[in-house]
Amino acid sequence: MTLSEIQEIAEVDIISSNGTLKVRSTTKPKKKKVRVYLTRTSLPSYLLTESLKELGFKVDLIESSFLLAAHSKTKCDLLWCGCDTDEAVPAKLQNRIPAMKFACRKGPMCQLVNLMHELFPGHFTFLPLSWPIPSQYAAFCHYAFTQQEPKTTQYYILKPDEGSQGDGIYLFKSPMDITQGTMSRNCVVQHYIHNPLLIENYKFDFRLYVLISKLDPLEAYLCKEGLARFCTEKYEKPNTKNIGKSYMHLTNYSLNKYSSDFVRSEEDSEGSKRTVTSVMKTLEMLGHNTDKIWASIIDIVFKTLICIAPLTKVEQLNLENIKLNSTHHFHLLGFDILLDEDLNPFLLEINGFPSMRTDSEIYDSLMQKTTIPSPVDEKVKKTALKGALHILFKHKVDESYCPVVGPEIPDERKPYLIFEDCRKLFTLFLKKSTLRKGSMLGSSGFRSFIRSCKVLQIIPGVTNADMDLLYINIIQQSDQSSQKCLSFLSFYRLLLTLAIKKFPDAPKYESLKQFVDLCFANYTICNK
Ligand code: ADP
Repeated sequence: MTLSEIQEIAEVDIISSNGTLKVRSTTKPKKKKVRVYLTRTSLPSYLLTESLKELGFKVDLIESSFLLAAHSKTKCDLLWCGCDTDEAVPAKLQNRIPAMKFACRKGPMCQLVNLMHELFPGHFTFLPLSWPIPSQYAAFCHYAFTQQEPKTTQYYILKPDEGSQGDGIYLFKSPMDITQGTMSRNCVVQHYIHNPLLIENYKFDFRLYVLISKLDPLEAYLCKEGLARFCTEKYEKPNTKNIGKSYMHLTNYSLNKYSSDFVRSEEDSEGSKRTVTSVMKTLEMLGHNTDKIWASIIDIVFKTLICIAPLTKVEQLNLENIKLNSTHHFHLLGFDILLDEDLNPFLLEINGFPSMRTDSEIYDSLMQKTTIPSPVDEKVKKTALKGALHILFKHKVDESYCPVVGPEIPDERKPYLIFEDCRKLFTLFLKKSTLRKGSMLGSSGFRSFIRSCKVLQIIPGVTNADMDLLYINIIQQSDQSSQKCLSFLSFYRLLLTLAIKKFPDAPKYESLKQFVDLCFANYTICNK
């Protein structure tokens, strides 16, 4: 260790007399100072300052406009920004992984999980059956109209793709009930889970926090604390009379806070917002195995992240300004999980920008708002934040978090990385595309893929004309048909179609894996 390093960590005077070194005084180790920019965020500055101080840092926190942060001459240690930006900011750490938001949207996330469900039947059943609309409207209608049982009890929920806070959501029974207005925007239709686990007869769900500390290679942790958000009207199974009752069916705080029955409590285990740990304790007292619930939740988080990470990397190619190498980007995601009465967890959605507010709003009869501190929010968000900062600044995981995925993926889970293989193949040809930037593969890039990977040799009997037709068909079936290029998801579809042509009798995953491996092998020979 050098002299200056010793001085840096310990407040000591080092004096030299007659060529020998003497340490004059030793005091407590000097605290490392971290400079933080906070901009346009719901995260209260005191929460960040307190967390960092408790981790042993001196904090220099500046609440500033984004512009000021972006043009600061000195590089800060951490930029915590509430908005989605692709502008480069001089920061060592930044709380947003660029383009993360896209794959977290309901539509793309459902498509990704559905695709994996197709490859690994029975392994990706944690998402209620879902259809992105309008692209899969016909498939949804076919399903709904041909369903035998339980036709009478099956309800569906429609959720706008980019919606949040319960906005635009409604329950319905038949495809004919979907309103015309809804059909003009991207939405997701889902099986409504009609038998949620109830506590005191109320429906509730969990908001859990997931830290992606690194996107490539993927590294993520799940916080074992979170919010349990309760409905404010007692639950009844859906029927034609009650499906419009949002206080009964939707657990969003943003809706239920307006209810006169919303209970604000200082206690973790009471009221309309509780901690996840208190709910887990209640479940344990009722004799349920909460370790099993946690294990299933960790499994869901792992499988979901494996799905969304490759798409995020592809979407980043759309962003011109990001300098991924100079700043370390991390992301705190909100996972909304619902338990059914058999304690099976289901993923409802991923929130790319979970609220970090620690206050609660109260509305009087005239809808006038007052804001008061919410001890439950504060406890949960502090735990999530401090544990995340501990991982990011000290590279250690405290007891509030558990690892979900790291660089070493167990062998039995490696097949799930198939999206990543497809992404690598896709990216090889993006560079050759006529489009100079972006994440879509144009016709020249596609032809280059066919040529370089010798696809016509892999699948004898298939002609260039067949390939062109397939290219057009796949684009027409996608949500982005107006763009006349292949998105990553369309390219994946195309690969799967070709793989099934080549290996019609193998299970879908095996076909795809073998086909992609052949493509890579041919590409390598071609480019030697
Ligand atoms: P938003 O982004 O608007 O919050 P969510 O997907 O989280 O949309 O749905 C809002 C609420 O609706 C959830 O918190 C949950 O209470 C309820 N909900 C959503 N999907 C389902 C489902 N498939 N089954 C039962 N309840 C659901």
